[in-house]
Amino acid sequence: MRNIYFDHAATTPLCEEAFNKMKPYFTEIFGNPNSQHAFGREAVKAVDEARDTIAKIINCKPNELYFTSGGTESDNWALRGTAHALSAKGKHLIISPIEHAAMLSTAKALEKEGFTVDFMKVDSEGFVDLEHLKSIIREDTTFIGCMMANNEVGTIEPIKEIAKIAHSRGAICFTDAVQAAGVLKIDVKDLGVDLMSMSSHKIYGPKGMGALYIRNGLLIDSIITGGHQERMKRGGTTNVAGVVGFAEAFKIADRDREKNFDYVSSLRDRFIDRVLAEVPFVKLNGPRKENRLPANADFSFKFIEGESILFSLDLAGIAVSSGSACSSGSLEPSHVLLALGLPEGLAHGSIRFSFGKHNTVEEVDYAVDVLKQAVERLRKMSPLFKAEGEIKNV
Ligand code: PLP
Repeated sequence: MRNIYFDHAATTPLCEEAFNKMKPYFTEIFGNPNSQHAFGREAVKAVDEARDTIAKIINCKPNELYFTSGGTESDNWALRGTAHALSAKGKHLIISPIEHAAMLSTAKALEKEGFTVDFMKVDSEGFVDLEHLKSIIREDTTFIGCMMANNEVGTIEPIKEIAKIAHSRGAICFTDAVQAAGVLKIDVKDLGVDLMSMSSHKIYGPKGMGALYIRNGLLIDSIITGGHQERMKRGGTTNVAGVVGFAEAFKIADRDREKNFDYVSSLRDRFIDRVLAEVPFVKLNGPRKENRLPANADFSFKFIEGESILFSLDLAGIAVSSGSACSSGSLEPSHVLLALGLPEGLAHGSIRFSFGKHNTVEEVDYAVDVLKQAVERLRKMSPLFKAEGEIKNV
């Protein structure tokens, strides 16, 4: 059976270079960076070097970079930490409706504490409506947050413009760059953001590792309180091997960024072009090619559920992801596709293919062939297709 992985937006395999660099930090160089002896100093040196490496790539000062357990923690910290720290100024927060659950759930929790959350509108391709954003900012708005690139439909947002709007109205600007870091060129000073989340396992680094850029001077409360780690802002013994692996993976992603961007985009474009030409009743979600993540191709297939396609592809050895989230036993339509204005039926039938640097053209072609057959077979069994597709011939 084939073993094809097209789910790189969910996670990526650890790259050889990061793995090799991490190994000694599990056994030989195992000191606690907080310890006052040679073992500790060796660990501190590795953490400092890793921090310098990532800071240089995103153009911040090393002391503006804080290591976390991943994108989820960074998102939680950015939103909750600043909402609380700035609550004397105001309790109004604005985020996009297509944020990751790490942001949406945190916003919901803050609403229970008395904060008000409003959502900026997005258009049918997922781009933020900047005029609408301007119209919903209030005197008491403290936080404006929008992801740099969407994990489901791949839309790359105008973060620089959003940051300008936020600052002109006295609010801070946050971006979740979990899907963008290591893929797009990022310069936090040029973008003008105050906070930015990153995650290691999306860029061939270890899981359970991430970082939050916090502009020097920004007021933010800690959410993980404990020891003096991360300059008193984030308690917990540093995951030294994780930090080292994250920095090495980031260094390699940055070194090969343009090459990978071009190669992965070419796989995506071949896949998109073939699917649109060869599979009937299909909709590409997100922008066609411009301002779209190189790895991402997300489609809705009319008359069938995304999950049924996912399982058919899985049986043929192809790993993809369905846009809808399975919550409390019931299949919810994708909140991202609903925000883009898709009807519930189409929001249920979406599949995300996300390509990586190890994928090949041959794998892409095989997947299109399998997909065509699976869609045809599932539609034959679909009462919806019989009722609407065949009879009305839509
Ligand atoms: N933000 C975005 C846009 C993501 O895609 C993800 C993961 O899928 C996260 C946050 C959470 O990151 P992590 O898995 O490192 O907690």
